[in-house]
Amino acid sequence: MTSSISTYTLYIGGERVSSDSTETIDSFNPATGALEYRIPDGNAADADRAVRAAREALDSWRRLTPAERGAHLFKIADEAEKHVERLAEAETRDNGKLLRDTLATYRVLPSIWRYFAGWADKIPGSVIPTGDDALNYLRREPHGVVLSIVPWNAPLQLASHKLAAALVMGNTVVLKPSEITSGVVLDFVEVLENAGLPRGVINIVTGRGSTIGEALVSHPGVDLITFTGGTGTGTRIAKVAADRHVPCLLELGGKSPNIVFADADFEKALNGVANAIFAVSGQACTAGSRAYVHRDIYDDFVAALVERAKRIRVGDPRSDGTEMGPLAYSEHFDRVLSYVDKTVGEGARLATGGRRVAGAGFDDGLYLEPTIFDGVTPEMTITKEEIFGPVLAVIPFDTEDEVIEHANGTEFGLAAGVWTQNVNRAHRVARRIDSGVVWVNTYRVLSPITPFGGFKASGHGKEGGVESLYEYSRLKSVWMDL
Ligand code: NAD
Repeated sequence: MTSSISTYTLYIGGERVSSDSTETIDSFNPATGALEYRIPDGNAADADRAVRAAREALDSWRRLTPAERGAHLFKIADEAEKHVERLAEAETRDNGKLLRDTLATYRVLPSIWRYFAGWADKIPGSVIPTGDDALNYLRREPHGVVLSIVPWNAPLQLASHKLAAALVMGNTVVLKPSEITSGVVLDFVEVLENAGLPRGVINIVTGRGSTIGEALVSHPGVDLITFTGGTGTGTRIAKVAADRHVPCLLELGGKSPNIVFADADFEKALNGVANAIFAVSGQACTAGSRAYVHRDIYDDFVAALVERAKRIRVGDPRSDGTEMGPLAYSEHFDRVLSYVDKTVGEGARLATGGRRVAGAGFDDGLYLEPTIFDGVTPEMTITKEEIFGPVLAVIPFDTEDEVIEHANGTEFGLAAGVWTQNVNRAHRVARRIDSGVVWVNTYRVLSPITPFGGFKASGHGKEGGVESLYEYSRLKSVWMDL
């Protein structure tokens, strides 16, 4: 019964190796419910092997010249370019994202590697002017072995930021993808092999957070943890890391607001707010899950938004006409639906959506209608907790001060959107919003060349831009008597 289902292996020390564990995890296609493949549910012995392999590779990797390390990254970029369709298909199968979105992701993925490769031999050093009797200079050194843990919603895009920045600064890496999307990450091994990356510089192990994840986080051979995932998980990881004084770069959850002022370009704001929550079925850390709309335009805006949501074509992520695919896996689907029920129970008005899409063509796929609630009050759970699905709360406001207070009124601080044609207000509100990213009259514009990262419970540290290079290295101050 099980023989036709392929099982992936781990990638340690440059080889595809079996896990020490006999436990496996089944991976299902969220669009069809079909069982696609198995991955090893790795254990502490696998974690140990991977960390040791990364440690063994460290010395020779960090001794390469920066230009040589950069050359390896350029090769990975060139090789990744040859696998765009294969990787896009694999991610769509893993997490149900629209194929046209995953194709777009993998077309730009090489640029992440090239951006960091380009930095390799361009990072300036510094000498501090301490006077004639002493010389003080600063060295940027690798941390050593970096543990990178990534979630399922953008597995290789997030991993590429972490891997490329870590490698270019002379670190070696153990990567643990989410148990939901390990297939596409292990498919990347072929890219690494073809690019001729030295053994052990990148190691990939799979399994649950509660098994191999915890074993890796508490492993004494890990020097830096870079984690992207839920706030609760990040908090647990940071506590374990604190016991060993291991630094953590944390990219966590969000509950991002979109603020629509009465003077906004109505159509542009409407498109922006709808895309912010319904693109990738709301399964983005930056999902704009709260929309604050000025009372003067509130009724018209909500009516137009509901109309827009009703027209969204939900369906097969591989089909060209589809605008919203399934949710990624069944426990997550149930969790999102439970938030819908809870919000109804707390007294908000379900303006549209909220039901599973079933019937012909939907098979056993995990499809949810685009969902909008109004009549939402600040005490309701929907304004505070991350749902990570296509569920939007729309809330009216009267004044700028009031909306800033509400927008900042969650534990999160990842991103925000501001929609206005008043340039002074745009800058003023951008300054007052307590989040790591603010978009004005646009939403979710991202690029490897600019830093990204949250405030408050959305994490700390930056991925992207030159700031990444500082995160993935540590600064040493050298004094010399002259
Ligand atoms: P998650 O926290 O459940 O899992 C993330 C990763 O951590 C997975 O690989 C998982 O196996 C691992 N993990 C879980 N428990 C662990 C433990 N105790 N020790 C070590 N590893 C453990 O998150 P998820 O459901 O995969 O992803 C969704 C979350 O990720 C959302 O909260 C979303 O906002 C967040 N996210 C944040 C960003 C960002 O850049 N801020 C980007 C994407 C996703």
